[in-house]
Amino acid sequence: MRIVINMATRRRTPQEEERTSDGKVEAQAALSRLGSWLEERGLKHSRQRDVIVETFYGMGGHVPVDGLVARVRSLDARVSVATVYRTMKLLAECGIAVPRRFDDGQTRYEPATGRSHHDHLICTGCGRIVEFENEKIEELQNRVARSHGFEVESHKLELYGRCDRCRRGEAGSREARP
Ligand SMILES: [Zn+2]
Ligand SMILES: [Zn+2]
Repeated sequence: MRIVINMATRRRTPQEEERTSDGKVEAQAALSRLGSWLEERGLKHSRQRDVIVETFYGMGGHVPVDGLVARVRSLDARVSVATVYRTMKLLAECGIAVPRRFDDGQTRYEPATGRSHHDHLICTGCGRIVEFENEKIEELQNRVARSHGFEVESHKLELYGRCDRCRRGEAGSREARP
């Protein structure tokens, strides 16, 4: 089985706290899309929403909401926790972000614009999240569904296990931390 790991996305996991310049471009595109979406519904666009969206894109993929709250509030303490939660729900409603809920029970969001379907590998040691796409798995899932008379509309595949770093016992894994 060949698993294609999206290295570009992996480098942008929130754990590694890397900000990329394209995050800003994506944030601008998302903001204008959100702007017209809000306008169509007669809703107001607020500066606080801009800060939240920009921070979200700056943090990369699979951002836990409470992590986003902390980051946003460190930039602007007037933004309430509820506003962050509401804004992320709005982003999901208008198709800019996708909510994810892995086994740790936290709600995470990842940017949805310009992205294709992918599944996730989640490290039970350090929490690292890796994305992959595998055509054969997709095909196989469709075949299994059809053999039961189903037509697949959507699916989520999450593989849990220990990543290479944790298996090598490298520092930075949850167990290795003091
Ligand atoms: Zn790990
Ligand atoms: Zn993902």
